[in-house]
This record gives sequence, structure tokens and C-alpha cells, in this order.
Amino acid sequence: MDKTEKAKKIVGILIKEYPNPKIALNFKTPLQLLVATILSAQCTDERVNKVIPELFKRFKTAEDFTDSDLKELEESIRSINFYKNKAKSIKECCKVIVQDFNGRLPDTVEELITLPGVGRKTANIVLGSAFGKDAIAVDTHVKRVSNRIGLAESDNPDKIERELLRIIPRNKWTLSTNLLILHGRNICGAKQPLCEICKVKKYCDFFNISLNEKT
Ligand code: SF4
Repeated sequence: MDKTEKAKKIVGILIKEYPNPKIALNFKTPLQLLVATILSAQCTDERVNKVIPELFKRFKTAEDFTDSDLKELEESIRSINFYKNKAKSIKECCKVIVQDFNGRLPDTVEELITLPGVGRKTANIVLGSAFGKDAIAVDTHVKRVSNRIGLAESDNPDKIERELLRIIPRNKWTLSTNLLILHGRNICGAKQPLCEICKVKKYCDFFNISLNEKT
């Protein structure tokens, strides 16, 4: 089975498992999702979701973040890992949004990655989930699951993104990102993948190689 066919099967199975695959971070605007994604680095989405309602009440626009007092911003996100660095990143990022984009978050990957601290993963999360565009974001789950299944063979997120863009139909890019993230969180964990109960094991290289090694 070639990778395109395999990807089609996997997406078809996973959509039945996770019928409403949405990003776990709460947000109302693209800027909020950008800020929430910056906060979620090495921090759980649950913790970020607890902090952001109050944060977004105080800081509503890129100008609000730019004009904020750094100490006040730090205090607002104090319970988040690396809050000092993240407060600085958010402020710097919003400063460029104000200066270069008139305060409006751009909606192309090329423009988004010009913002300080914003890489392709974050840009694609915002494009796919907040702007409703077709995008594949390669986070740690997408990287692990797509390599195990055999949809990609690389440690490099950019290469994995290119490979997934090639084998998954465009109108399923964002959907597939969210499905692979959910599957990585729920079943295909980093330390102990639950292969026995995994619905895609029939098509998974990792599972089939392990099975062959045992027999
Ligand atoms: S069979 Fe195992 S390794 Fe493959 S996707 Fe499922 S849980 Fe992950």
C-alpha cells in the first residue's frame, strides 16, 4: 500500500474515533490562539486554559500586549512554565504585529513566521484552527505518530510537514493534524503506545514490525 492510500485509511479510521477533532486550547480570535500556543510550549493545555480567560480580559489586542508593563504581564501568566520568557516573547511578537501589520495578525505562513518566536508549527496551528485555512502543524504528537505509522520517516518537522502535505488531500490537512494529535495523546503515547487497542494498528509500521519480531 502506498503512503497516500495508507494516509487515507488512517484518516478514515481516526475520524470515526474522534468525530469532532478540535484543538484543546480555548480561544476566540487568531491572536488569542497565537498567545495560547506560545504559552503552551512545555506546559499542559489544561493549565494554559485556566490562565487565559483572565489574561484575555486584561489584554484584548496586540496593542494591549505591546503597551503592557512586562512585570504585570509576567504576573498574569505566573503559573505557566517559563513565564518570564513567554511574557517577553508575547510582548515582542505583538510589537511586530503592531508595527508591521497594523495590529492585525497576518494570515499566511510566510508572514506569521516573521514574528519573533513563531515557527512553522505555531503558524500552522493558527492558520488551521483560527483562520480556517488548510495547514498541517507538526508538533511532538504528529511527529511521533506519523513516524510510527510510516507516513513519514524523519526527525525534522519541516520534512514531515512536506511529506504529509504531499500524501494527504488538501481539504484534510487541518483535520489530519488534529486527529494525529488526539491519537498521540490518547493512544499512541511517547512512552507506552497502546497498540493492542489501537484502531489503526493494521496499517502501522511500528506495530507490524514489532509483531514480526515476536513471531
Ligand atoms: S499501533 Fe501502536 S504505534 Fe501504531 S499508531 Fe497505534 S498505538 Fe501508535
